[in-house]
Amino acid sequence: MTDKEAQKADDLKLLIPEEIRYNCQGCGRCCSGWSVGLSEADYSRVKDVDWGSLHPDLANKELFIHRQDQFKQGLAQYPHFTKPRKDGTCPFLIDGLCFIHGHMGEEQKPGTCQIFPYSYVETPTGIYMGLAYNSMASVRNIGELLTDQEEKLKGYFRKTVHHLSARAADRPADTATGASTEPPANPFDEVDFAAGASVPWSEFLYFDARLTGFLKQAMDEKRNFFDVLVQAEEIVLRATRLAREGKSLAELADYQPDVTASGAGNPSGTDVSIIAMIYYLYLVYPTVRSSYEELWQIQGQSFSPRSIMMIAKKFGHLAGTGISTILFKKAEIPQIGANDLSKSLNYKVEPLSPEMNELFCRWLYVKIFGKTYFGPAAAGYSVVSGFNSLVACFVCALLFAKGEAMKRGEKELKIADLYEAYWRLDREFLTVTQILPQVSAALSIAYSIPRMARRVVLALANNARD
Ligand code: SF4
Repeated sequence: MTDKEAQKADDLKLLIPEEIRYNCQGCGRCCSGWSVGLSEADYSRVKDVDWGSLHPDLANKELFIHRQDQFKQGLAQYPHFTKPRKDGTCPFLIDGLCFIHGHMGEEQKPGTCQIFPYSYVETPTGIYMGLAYNSMASVRNIGELLTDQEEKLKGYFRKTVHHLSARAADRPADTATGASTEPPANPFDEVDFAAGASVPWSEFLYFDARLTGFLKQAMDEKRNFFDVLVQAEEIVLRATRLAREGKSLAELADYQPDVTASGAGNPSGTDVSIIAMIYYLYLVYPTVRSSYEELWQIQGQSFSPRSIMMIAKKFGHLAGTGISTILFKKAEIPQIGANDLSKSLNYKVEPLSPEMNELFCRWLYVKIFGKTYFGPAAAGYSVVSGFNSLVACFVCALLFAKGEAMKRGEKELKIADLYEAYWRLDREFLTVTQILPQVSAALSIAYSIPRMARRVVLALANNARD
C-alpha cells in the first residue's frame, strides 16, 4: 500500500448499515462455488508449500488455475485462481475449514478470502459498507452489529485497498503512468438512473436517504415485503422521472408511493422467460460450471462463431440445462432437484411470515445501502437496471422456496430454503462483473425495462394470500 493509499484508508468516513449483524461462524460454506482469484503476492505466499506432504487430500492435485496471459490482456481478474473440486468446493477446504488458514495463519490466505464477505464502495462522501449473503452467517444475520465493529471494519478496508493495489501492480496497464497526475474522477460523481436521467451525487443522496429510510422502517416493522417491493420500485421510478425532467430529487422526502401488490398480475410468457433466464444464470448455471474447468474464469472472452461451436460441442450439458430452464421452465439443480418454474409461480402458499418479511427487507436494505447494485460494482448498471436485478433475485429466491414447498406437498414456505436460495444467488450477484460481455448485455437490456418483473411479483403476491 502506498503512503497515499494508507492515508486515504485512515481518513475514510465509513458508512455502516444499521442493525445488520455479522461474524464468521466458521461453517466453511462460503468456500464453495468460487474459483478464488490470487494476486502474484497471494500466490507467492502459497506456491512453494509442499501441500501434499501436509495433507493427503492435497497430494497429487492441481490446486491452481493459471491465467497470466488473459490477466495481462484484461480478460481475467487475477493471474491465478484456486482450482475448485468437482463439487465446487475450494481445494483447500478440508473438514469444513481453510487449510491455509489452519497451517499458515489468516494473513496468508488469498486477499479475497481475508476480506470476504465485506464490500466497500468509495463515493464522493464516504465509503459505503455492504455484506455479501454468500455466507450463512450474513444471510441469517448472526453475530455482533456491524455498527459496533467499526475499528475492525476499517482494518478490513485497509486490507481491501492493499489487496486491490497489489493486483493493480501485477498488471502493467493498470499502473502505467499517463500524462495527467490528477486523481481519477470518482465514478459516482454522476449517477445514471436510466438513459437520459443522470444526476450529480449530491442529488442522488436525496433519493438514497428516502429509499434506505423507507426500507429500514419496513425491516423494523416486518412489513409485507410484496408491498414494500412495489413501493420501493415506485420511489426509484419517481426519482428517475425527476432526474429526466431536470428537477431536484429533494421532493422525494415527502413522496409516499400510492401502490400495493394487489391484483392477479397475469405475467406474459415473455415475463416468465426473462425470470427463467435469470433463474438459470443465478441458480442453475453455477452448478453446471463447477463441473468444467474451462467454464471457470472465462469472463471477458468474446463469443465468436468458433467459441459458440466449441461451447455447444463440448458442453451439451450446459446447452441442455439452459434450454430446459429457459424454454421449458424446468430447472434442475444437483442435490436440490427439479423445479417447474411455471408451476411454482402459480402454486398457492401461506402468506410470508414476519421473519421472511424481515429477511427480504433486510437483504434489500443491505444491497441498496452498500451501493453494489449499480455502477462499477454491478457491471455499470443504471439505478433502474440495478434495482430490477434485485427484484429478480427476490423472485428467484421465492421460486426456489416455493419449488421446495411444492415437492414436500406443503403450503408453508421454509425460511431455511430462502437462506439457501440467497446464499446461492448472492455469489452470482457479487460476480456480475465477471460474466461474459454478451450475457451481461442481454441482462442489461432486460433490466432496463421499468417495472420489469412487476406482473410476476403481483402473481407471487396473489398466490401468497390467506
Ligand atoms: S483459500 Fe481457504 S478461505 Fe479461501 S476459499 Fe479456499 S478454503 Fe476458503
